[in-house]
Amino acid sequence: MASANDITQLKGVGAAMALKLERLGITQIQDLLFHLPLRYQDRTRIVPIGSLQPGDEVVVEGEVRVSDIQMGRRRALLCRIQDGTGTLTLRFFHFSAAQKNGLAPGKRVRCFGEARPGPNGLEMVHPEYRASGNDGLQPTDTHLTPVYPMTEGLQQNKLRKLMEQALSWLDTGHIEELLPASVRSYWKLPELKAALRYLHTPPVDADQHLLLAGRHPAQRRLAFEELLAHHLTLLKLRQQIQQDGAPAMAATGHFSQPFLAQLPFSLTNAQQRVSQEVAVDLAQPRPMLRLIQGDVGSGKTMIAALAALQAVENGFQAAIMAPTEILAEQHFNNFQAWLEPLGIQVAWLVGKLKGKRREQQLASIADGSAQVVVGTHALFQDEVRFYNLGLAIIDEQHRFGVHQRLSLREKGRDGIQTPHQLIMTATPIPRTLTMSAYADLDCSIIDELPPGRTPVNTVVIDDSRRDQVISRVRAACQEGKQVYWVCTLIEESEALQCQAAEVTAEQLKEQLVELRIGLVHGRMKAAEKAEVMQRFKQAELDLLVATTVIEVGVDVPNASVMIIENPERLGLSQLHQLRGRVGRGSVASHCVLMYHAPLSKQGKERLAVMRQTTDGFRIAEKDLELRGPGEVLGTRQTGDMQFRIADLQRDSDLLDAVRDAATQLTQEPTLTSAITRRWLAQGEEYGHV
Ligand code: ADP
Ligand code: MG
Repeated sequence: MASANDITQLKGVGAAMALKLERLGITQIQDLLFHLPLRYQDRTRIVPIGSLQPGDEVVVEGEVRVSDIQMGRRRALLCRIQDGTGTLTLRFFHFSAAQKNGLAPGKRVRCFGEARPGPNGLEMVHPEYRASGNDGLQPTDTHLTPVYPMTEGLQQNKLRKLMEQALSWLDTGHIEELLPASVRSYWKLPELKAALRYLHTPPVDADQHLLLAGRHPAQRRLAFEELLAHHLTLLKLRQQIQQDGAPAMAATGHFSQPFLAQLPFSLTNAQQRVSQEVAVDLAQPRPMLRLIQGDVGSGKTMIAALAALQAVENGFQAAIMAPTEILAEQHFNNFQAWLEPLGIQVAWLVGKLKGKRREQQLASIADGSAQVVVGTHALFQDEVRFYNLGLAIIDEQHRFGVHQRLSLREKGRDGIQTPHQLIMTATPIPRTLTMSAYADLDCSIIDELPPGRTPVNTVVIDDSRRDQVISRVRAACQEGKQVYWVCTLIEESEALQCQAAEVTAEQLKEQLVELRIGLVHGRMKAAEKAEVMQRFKQAELDLLVATTVIEVGVDVPNASVMIIENPERLGLSQLHQLRGRVGRGSVASHCVLMYHAPLSKQGKERLAVMRQTTDGFRIAEKDLELRGPGEVLGTRQTGDMQFRIADLQRDSDLLDAVRDAATQLTQEPTLTSAITRRWLAQGEEYGHV
């Protein structure tokens, strides 16, 4: 609909200009108004030349004293002006005869530009200027001048002109105030119109530091509304899903009691608390939407097993999805060992399972003879028919975006009922991200590790000391320890990464002839991988060379040393995951981060964090600080988390207020959908995948 809001309604916006603006994400007048300045210039005051500092971008005014063409390497017009406090050189490389005459000695000029050091004191190169006789100069501007983010072929001045039109459009009342007065006054937020006008034309005395830092109330007003829009979208999704019924599955203890009784350990307090939270959710007639966060090794699998048992106790099927085949297989083996003695059949399905075995598994899933199903995302293919699915568990899925979560929910839907859903994250997620990216989920935290773990001792070493590292590996293996050797490479190229691991394995075999060395990487056949993992688990291998495929979940308690090559290539959270593969038994464990010099300052800082702490939450916070939400949540997730104005780190202190306001506003559907429509083009589609 070509509305009155369409950008082509502005004078001077034809097809070509509209295209340029589209590159900036601007198709509506409203978008233009939300295109905020990066910074401002102060053209409101005339600054005494004598007070200029290099780098100042200011207006000065003075009388031309000398005006000369300098020959030499580059012909230039040099013009010296004076205002009684000092002198300044204006330098022009391109000029017409008329310009030269306009800048003749005795003329007054007012110019705007950046003062830079030159051969004879400060100068301005190609300043914007106006010259006159002795009077008749325009008055200076009455507000600060915005400098906008630009795209090729679009001039600042042109954009400023368009913005003036957009601001008059704003004055005629075309933009709706969507935050109710009660919300605005409670959180002291200015009105939308006032905020926009302020940001495009700040008064002379505006606090530029505050503006530059993005922390001015006018900016925060907009960030607030944008964060609110995201939050409301997720809440709406949650409401929609919860309107669907889910099977109420009360805990009977029929299977969980004997299961717990045969475990060689008792649950930690944190495991008990979290599994209780899950048990309560499962007993409700609406779908559970719960996120479990627990550091590496905190024992999330127990929570999954207990939840699955509660479903089975009620005659429902439970599905567990893992991100990799290795992990799916490990879960399958564990669940089979735990559940078959209880008379529960476990099926499994991964992409590489073919032929007759696949048919069998599919059949047992479809007819319900398998009460628990373990697999990879292969579980969500069309040919899979669940039988009375009551619970879907997604393990180690921190890199899942809103859309992925939704399609998983849809897949499990059976008629009108939606299965309960439990998501377990591989990586602790900083609170700010949980509050924004996962606002549709309830959150439980396992903040305790099982007893008897000794923290991993981490060292950071230059790879020129590789031989020393190899000797240490030899010594460790001779003591009966097992070692991981992890090869990393640029993430995009799995093929190269596998090749590197193959080469490394060959080299290590030559250097460590007495050791039994295995190799796993993502390009091996599932059966081969599984066999190697199995041999490592049974201590038939001393050293396992691996790519980052072992990043998540793999559990070999006797492995107590890990060497990571080129750790500088990985994010902190990923390193933390990898390191979590060791330190699972009672012996002291070691992790050697063998970097390739030179390291950047940030690179050093990041590896130092790994040395200083094994607390996954602190590491995730640091990752967020150093690399931004994209690295912590994964790129897919970031796609859902792109903000125009808000910045999760900068504005994290708004999130509590945003959540409260969102809760308050959910009672007003017309308003909430207007807010989400304004900020999220696809906002309304979230619910219909
Ligand atoms: P993660 O949270 O990383 O998925 P796992 O569920 O794989 O952790 O558990 C890690 C290891 O800790 C496993 O070997 C598991 O058997 C063991 N474990 C889990 N809970 C406890 C507990 N309460 N006491 C002792 N060991 C436990
Ligand atoms: Mg796990």
